[in-house]
Amino acid sequence: MISINTHISLRPFNTFGLDANAAHFCTIHTIQELSQLLRQAPPQPLRVLGGGSNILFVQDVDGTLLKNEIKGKEILHTWANKVHVRLGSGENWHETVRWAVEQGLGGIENLSLIPGTVGAAPVQNIGAYGVELKDVFVRLHAVDLLTGQSKTFWKKDCLFGYRDSIFKSVHKGRYFITDLVLSLTRQHHSIHVQYGDISKTLEAMQVTGKPTIHQISKAVIAIRSSKLPDPKVIGNCGSFFKNPEITTALFENIRQNHPTAPGYPLPNGQVKIPAGWLIEQCGWKGKRVGNTGSYEKQALVLFNHGGATGTEVAQLAKEIIQSVKTRFGVPLEAEVNIW
Ligand SMILES: Cc1cc2nc3c(=O)[nH]c(=O)nc-3n(C[C@H](O)[C@H](O)[C@H](O)COP(=O)(O)OP(=O)(O)OC[C@H]3O[C@@H](n4cnc5c(N)ncnc54)[C@H](O)[C@@H]3O)c2cc1C
Repeated sequence: MISINTHISLRPFNTFGLDANAAHFCTIHTIQELSQLLRQAPPQPLRVLGGGSNILFVQDVDGTLLKNEIKGKEILHTWANKVHVRLGSGENWHETVRWAVEQGLGGIENLSLIPGTVGAAPVQNIGAYGVELKDVFVRLHAVDLLTGQSKTFWKKDCLFGYRDSIFKSVHKGRYFITDLVLSLTRQHHSIHVQYGDISKTLEAMQVTGKPTIHQISKAVIAIRSSKLPDPKVIGNCGSFFKNPEITTALFENIRQNHPTAPGYPLPNGQVKIPAGWLIEQCGWKGKRVGNTGSYEKQALVLFNHGGATGTEVAQLAKEIIQSVKTRFGVPLEAEVNIW
């Protein structure tokens, strides 16, 4: 029998540091344990919890929460310039990036210091500094929580988009992702330094010529540490909202009143506008509301200053969405999963 605990506090299990309780809580270390648990017919619904770095708990969690601790890292195949690595979904993402960089394997160094687990990375196709998980993704295995059947999802099956995949839409909550296979490079790494302050930071680090993946990872860690609040100090889930994609007409309209409004043309003819800029224009940046607020260095990050409730954070998010909609006609969408 797999043991199921009851009435467990989730405060240590979410980076917002919010209080909520799980009615039933079970730690899963292997696929065999997961299969056995499903045969035990635990209280429904079943939900998967990784590092809790992309969830806002607005109430207690009913059913059974499955805390993912499936570990493992192995090199599956090696070619001249490429390797396929298989990663257990309960591995820590940043530790995995560190491991890859130490082995001289390139492809995920720009994704350094993103909190959470390997298994959650495909759920929202994590991305930072010009790289997304989909760029290195080969396949994943997942267990259907309804039927207990295992299934392989190849890249095309995952419908990856900007902070999106089939696991956040059609199959939301249906599968427990158990492992991933990524394709990394052994040499001739394709490096991405044109985003954010990477080049500037490398310069400050006195890196000349083509940077190594180790130097890029170090630069990304330095930038992120200087801009984003450490969840161990201030509870948060990183960017609370997605950057909206709007029509060219709406963007031109915004530019009439705000000639310096930032916007990035997309291949689909739309324009991506930074949500942080919109929120800042509405006066929210650095504003504290009760125990929550918008972070002073990055308006996109909402925080728990200690003692905030999930509903308090959700209410602030609602007010921000409303003010951006009223002022700019742009609908903001939460990136964070609200439970
Ligand atoms: C300071 C900070 C910075 C961040 N920066 C970034 C960033 O730069 N880019 C970015 O993309 N994200 C960023 N994030 C968000 C977050 O780190 C990622 O979304 C991460 O992948 C979430 O991992 P997790 O294990 O904590 O997932 P959780 O929060 O535990 O879960 C998130 C969702 O995924 C589902 N899920 C988790 N594991 C599995 C699984 N094995 N199988 C099926 N479903 C699963 C959960 O059910 C839930 O719906 C940041 C967060 C913080 C706190």
